[in-house]
Formats: sequence, C-alpha cells, structure tokens
Amino acid sequence: MNFVILDLEWNGAYSKRLKGYINEIIEFGAVKVDPQLNILDTFEVLIQPQVGKKISGKIKNLTSITNEDLKGGLRFMQAVSRFCKWSGESVVLTWGTSDILALIENCRYFCGDGHIPFLHRYVDLQAYCEHFLPCDGGQQVGLSSAAQMLKISEDGFDHHRALGDSLLSLRCFQKLYHPQSLESFIQDAGCDEFYHKMEFKTVPICDLNHPLIHSADLAFNCDLCGRRARRVSKWQLRNKSFLAEFFCRRCNHKFYGRVRFKLKYEGLVVKKKILPFTEKKEEEKQPLEQKVSQS
Ligand SMILES: [Zn+2]
Repeated sequence: MNFVILDLEWNGAYSKRLKGYINEIIEFGAVKVDPQLNILDTFEVLIQPQVGKKISGKIKNLTSITNEDLKGGLRFMQAVSRFCKWSGESVVLTWGTSDILALIENCRYFCGDGHIPFLHRYVDLQAYCEHFLPCDGGQQVGLSSAAQMLKISEDGFDHHRALGDSLLSLRCFQKLYHPQSLESFIQDAGCDEFYHKMEFKTVPICDLNHPLIHSADLAFNCDLCGRRARRVSKWQLRNKSFLAEFFCRRCNHKFYGRVRFKLKYEGLVVKKKILPFTEKKEEEKQPLEQKVSQS
C-alpha cells in the first residue's frame, strides 16, 4: 500500500455560471511514498484557469505563480486524469480537508460530477498529526506550526507551492508515523457517505437551550477535589464558547468553566475546559458578545 500526499494551490474566481466564487485549482503537487514512507516519485502540474482568466495579486505573491506560467498548464480534467494514472490505488492524504472540498467543487464544475476519480481511500493528515501534537482542542494546526512543533526546518521547502507543501507534509508525517495508529484515520472515500461527511459544515451551537445540549454538559467538577462544583454566575457567550464562574465550597476554590459545542457530521461534540479564576477576567466581562440567560 503506497501513500500519496497531495497539495493544491487555487485561485478564488468569480463564475458567471455559478453567480458566485469558486476556488479554481491552478496547481497539483504530490509525493508518492512506499509503506515505510520512502519517496518513490513526485508529481507537479500547473492548470490553466478557465473561470478566472487572471490570478489574483494575493495568490501571485503567495505562490509566485504567474499568469504566464499558467498559460502552458493543463486543463483541470486533464490534470485529474494524469493524476489518476500516477496515483493508482494509493491512499491519498491532504493537510486538512479544504483541498478535498476544492476538488469536489472543481470536479462538479468542470465535469458535472463532484466525485473525485482518484480518491479511493483518504486520510486527513492534519487531523492525524493533531492527534499527536500538544494542541488546544478545537484549534486546527497549520502546516507551518506543525513543522515548528516537530522541529522541522522549513528551509529548502518551496512553501506555498503545491509540491513544496506536500513534501513538508510528508516530513511531518514521517515524524509521527505509526502504522497502527494510522489505520483508524483511513477513510473509505468510495461511498456517498464520505462526500456527505466532507461537505457537512460544522456549526458552533450558541444557544444553551439547544435540544442536543444536556445538563451534564454544563456541569463542572472542582479541579482540586473532583467533586461537583456550583455555578455562581450566569453563562456568558464569548467567542462561541460559554463561560461561567464555578465555586467548590469544600476547597473554597473558584474557577471558570468553559464549554464549547460544535455540531459535526458525527453529532454534537462538547469540549470542556477549566480555566483559573483571575480578577482580570472580571474586568474583561464588559465587552462580552452578549449576556446569555440561564437555561
Ligand atoms: Zn474542591
């Protein structure tokens, strides 16, 4: 079983047909590795944009790809078909799912079908790496931050170019590669469910009366003695999280309980955290988004 680590560059372009913007893919870059993650081959093609005739200055600066470069590029579906032959049955990995969403969008636009022909099995490499990295739950780790955490120097990688980023992703993967742990991250991409899951938009829940929220989700135990603490303030909504003061009588200990609700494809995800009580937070209460009535 080989792996292919794929990275794309795209350009936001206005489509008259869609009457909206599309992330038009302008470059494919990928590296193919064997089961021990030794490099077997690389893949790099530029794609001639059909929707946005010119790429934006931002993308030009970021990628240093010019309109001249793209004139000699392939059509999107030609690039897909070449990539299909090259990647074969490999497991495809991308850093985060946004490249997959761009592929679905481009396949749908250019051939009327959102299925990605070369995607049989898929791993979100970002999710896999986050599993091993010390990161605050909920925050997504960018490729550069992951490389820094893993003490990988970004020198020598053509950053913000598809092939360079795929090679840097591979370095992160190599540092954290445990074949057995990877198993549970391999998704079957050959079914409609995969596409439903990919296109499902995670939404934060900002209403404590939401039927999926249970009272236990709003209870906090004292971080000193482990016993149930009493909430002594109203819940406040701050940056899509709910925050309240809690008090443990036994320990005479006050702390903040923070809880965040996200509705994902799999269901409600609840993330709770205890924060130390500081008087400073008291003062900060003024500019809170809104006061939330007790549920
Ligand atoms: Zn206590």
